[in-house]
Amino acid sequence: MKIVPEEFGKLVFNEIAMKKALSQDVFDKLEQTIKNGESLDSTLASAVAEAMKDWAIANGATHYTHWFQPLTGITAEKHESFLTTVSSGNPILELSGKELIKGEPDASSFPSGGLRSTFEARGYTAWDPTSYAFIKGNTLCIPTAFCSYGGYALDKKTPLLRSIDALNKQALRVFKVLKMNDVKHIVTNVGPEQEYFLIDKTMFGKRLDLVLTGRTLFGAPSPKGQELDDHYFGVIKPRVASFMEEVDRELWKLGISAKTEHNEVAPAQHELATIYTTCNLACDQNQLVMEMMTKIADKHNFVILFHEKPFEGVNGSGKHNNWSISTDTGINLLSPGDTPFKNQVFLLFLAAVIKAVDDYQDLLRISVASASNDHRLGKNEAPPAIISIFLGDELDKVLKAIANDDEEFESHKERILLGSGVLPSLVKDNTDRNRTSPFAYTGNKFEFRMPGSNKGVSDANTVLNTAVAESLRAFSDLLETSDNVDKAIHAIVKHTIKEHQKILFSGNGYNDTWVEEAKERGLCNFPTTPDALAHLMDEKNVKLFGEHNVLNDIELKARQEIDFENYVKSLDIEVKTMVHLAKRNIMPAINKYIGKLANNITNLIAIDKSISTNYQKNTLDKLCNNLTKIDELTTALNDKYLEANKIDCFEKQAFIIKDTLLPLMAKLRAVVDECETLMPKNYWPMPTYEELLFSEH
Ligand code: ADP
Ligand code: MG
Repeated sequence: MKIVPEEFGKLVFNEIAMKKALSQDVFDKLEQTIKNGESLDSTLASAVAEAMKDWAIANGATHYTHWFQPLTGITAEKHESFLTTVSSGNPILELSGKELIKGEPDASSFPSGGLRSTFEARGYTAWDPTSYAFIKGNTLCIPTAFCSYGGYALDKKTPLLRSIDALNKQALRVFKVLKMNDVKHIVTNVGPEQEYFLIDKTMFGKRLDLVLTGRTLFGAPSPKGQELDDHYFGVIKPRVASFMEEVDRELWKLGISAKTEHNEVAPAQHELATIYTTCNLACDQNQLVMEMMTKIADKHNFVILFHEKPFEGVNGSGKHNNWSISTDTGINLLSPGDTPFKNQVFLLFLAAVIKAVDDYQDLLRISVASASNDHRLGKNEAPPAIISIFLGDELDKVLKAIANDDEEFESHKERILLGSGVLPSLVKDNTDRNRTSPFAYTGNKFEFRMPGSNKGVSDANTVLNTAVAESLRAFSDLLETSDNVDKAIHAIVKHTIKEHQKILFSGNGYNDTWVEEAKERGLCNFPTTPDALAHLMDEKNVKLFGEHNVLNDIELKARQEIDFENYVKSLDIEVKTMVHLAKRNIMPAINKYIGKLANNITNLIAIDKSISTNYQKNTLDKLCNNLTKIDELTTALNDKYLEANKIDCFEKQAFIIKDTLLPLMAKLRAVVDECETLMPKNYWPMPTYEELLFSEH
């Protein structure tokens, strides 16, 4: 399979396709709409719809769908045919401007957190012209936002778009003060790195826990794990390589370029990074990447696992969110330039990010919270649940010098005089990597490493954009009233460094001592989703989202409700699956082997009373004890689950699950896993870790 350059973006109605399909006038107007966020007039919509439909049909589409991201976290679509009527035996294929702009899916099955009362089941999807339409199979997918009849956002895209607007608005205030009048808007760039596991389809099918919950609820460790580090960047096995090749080719057609593909640390784990693009498009593309990978894996007899922690004792999967902002004139605002003027801008935006991350640590943690990501954060392998920023040696020194009003700055190479805002250009290599940091500066962008592999990155970027917008709002308020901008910037940067020192940390984030130190510094530490989610409606957070028109308090409350509900439901499924597997598969299997051992003992003694049956008896004794424990624990787990389930409040249920059910689940697992190590392979009722992890040839 070869990648053909001409095929790039073949299935996307991107700028090139639009230029070909639209008249110059319509194209220019649409571009204005996209770039400046102007509203769309209906004649324009009709012209675009007609051209889009013709392009789609020419590329094999027969249907179209409004593609959206409801609060379930995955994408949804409802297919409609282009066919409207048949005239004299000829089909009439249509897509009107109205159909392009607005859809009315029956929204009653999507979560609304009470925003859509039952008598008003309607929801609307609205075309998002800033994300390209694309073809998947025989369907033209039109990216849309999804809202309720009353206009409340019911999806992940709407607040993201609003946050991009908020950031743009505040950044433009800064540029105005700086007299950078050529800047018309800013661009937020995002490049997500996606980790995943590939498991043989047959093995997967034999594990009910993987099938129903995406992770193994039981499983003794494999004798070989990741201790040799021989998988990381190792040779990619042929079946995996052929899967990756097809993924590349299909993504390429959708205008998404996969930049790096390599094995990850854990066996059967891999990573795919796509080249960064504008924030909104990147979030859509990441959803599409996950969808395409799932389908293509199936064709290669694999199942792809995006769960953050499918295997205990083996590294989990995350999604690093690389984020930067640039101007439409091409300046990366997080890139340290080499003229004083540009550096001032850099310092100001750097300060804005530092302030944002410190002031809204809680929101960043919440944006990545899920039952599955809880298994990863803070478990000695992934970033801790505590947010801190790593800037790198060089930048640390620069900021220290600014905070101290030093006259000169000592770089690793030379002494540099610090004039008004002068900053030496930092070589990318100087930003020495700290893999344990949840939020690291990497030369010209920040890498947020806490997002889980399973969830889209809209939430994380919504928080990041809005929080930085708020920093810039505060800075602009000061700058607009100052008569010396240079001095004001210096004062803002200096003040920010001092005020937000506590969020800067360059040590080892996996270290236990960090938890203590972070506590002393007053940083938030929310180890679990319920702990984090409980803070979503804190006054400062409601104010932030409200003032920047990203989410009002009603929309925010609905999201909190849905997230608690999702947490409860996913754990409900895990508990039920655990009990089911224990009672129906594991306990009978242990019992059968106990019977076998008992028979053996009787038979042996019948041969010769003095024969040693210690091994059989010891094993029998351990298994019988464990079987009793398993019985007690499953009963307790089931009882507690039923008790929690009676409570009519998801938030309360979530805390009970976290405090009482999760510890019981861990206990049950430990006993079952011990039994697995005591029993022969052919008596164990499901594939083992070694079979799952080393079967991807
Ligand atoms: P790593 O060493 O973490 O693999 P890379 O330089 O390979 O870092 O980049 C990882 C991701 O960051 C890629 O998706 C890449 O497109 C993205 N990226 C690179 N530059 C930027 C930028 N300025 N803004 C946002 N994302 C970026
Ligand atoms: Mg990375």
